[in-house]
Amino acid sequence: MKQNLRLPGPTPLPPEVQHAMDRDMIDHRGPEFSEMLLRCTVLLKKFYRTENDVLIYPGTGTGGLEAAIANSFSPDSAVLAVTVGVFGDRFARIADSFGLDVRRLSLPRGRAVEPEQLRHALDDNSDVVGVMLTHNETSTGVTNPLAELAPIVKERGLLLLVDGVSSVGAMPVETDALDLDIVVSGSQKAWMSPPGLVMLSVSPRAWEAAGNARLPRYYWDFKIAKTALEKGYTHYTPAVSLFYALDVALQLMDDEGMENIWARHHKLADYTRRSVREAGLDLFADERYASDSVTALKTPDDVDASRLRERLRDEFGVTLGDGQAEMAGRVLRIGHMGYVHENDLHETFDALRQALGAEREVRV
Ligand code: PLP
Repeated sequence: MKQNLRLPGPTPLPPEVQHAMDRDMIDHRGPEFSEMLLRCTVLLKKFYRTENDVLIYPGTGTGGLEAAIANSFSPDSAVLAVTVGVFGDRFARIADSFGLDVRRLSLPRGRAVEPEQLRHALDDNSDVVGVMLTHNETSTGVTNPLAELAPIVKERGLLLLVDGVSSVGAMPVETDALDLDIVVSGSQKAWMSPPGLVMLSVSPRAWEAAGNARLPRYYWDFKIAKTALEKGYTHYTPAVSLFYALDVALQLMDDEGMENIWARHHKLADYTRRSVREAGLDLFADERYASDSVTALKTPDDVDASRLRERLRDEFGVTLGDGQAEMAGRVLRIGHMGYVHENDLHETFDALRQALGAEREVRV
């Protein structure tokens, strides 16, 4: 059964993007590839709202988080990891695995970090040299208020590493205006492209930090990547087919227009939240910080979340994201980022209402 893929990544591909990959390899050291790499980099910078360098690696969001840390810190660095969910925890664990002195500001699931909480955590940990922050926490459907949080970090002169994996492209991320040092994103989210490419913006301040950072790295060494990029190539064999896809996807995004894309995501997120309530369900996230790219809903106590998800997939052709970690069995997630339109969500809620009814009938 063809699925209405409502995961918060991988997200569906427009037909043009699918077709773009139906072609042979080209010389990855030749002019055609160089031009494609340059086109992708220019449009990524536009969506990142930055004049900073943007590097593209074959890899995933997790790799990008690791790269951000490896290029920023030294074995004795103290850092603050702000975590509001599974991906914030992952960012912190990567720092743990490098042996950094990781202080955590951990919020209950469903909550965002408030500016005052960040201020206090930094006052209490005045020796940290950097802060790691998830912009959009995909596991809970919470968007941290980046525009209010970033200045608190920057006024202390600290390095700010942002996980924008499921936010950049779907909602405003003002990389330059907020002076964000490294922002990581992943091709399978808002970019209407397959999984497998990770993008990172690197500020002048982050370059300075990279020059002093003593954590080991080679593949992820930004300096090596930049030297190659300046010649129009990559230091490794690039994921050529994924570039075919990204190149077309970015062009489609540019044609639609950045503000229009943000507005579409905002409208669809509103529609999703309204429909969750109309279906008699509760939202998982604090509504003040509800995400424009993914919505988490609480499954009712009388319904088995994994059975509901299976029924939606097998009988209605609608695939939702499951609850992760401690949210397993309590939460389902509806992705509404990238190539998504109102009709996809109408269909999702029609199916959800019917599947909920069927699940309840089974229990009676
Ligand atoms: N950070 C966030 C916010 C994510 O949503 C994800 C993936 O869903 C990741 C990090 C990890 O990315 P990947 O699965 O591409 O390694």
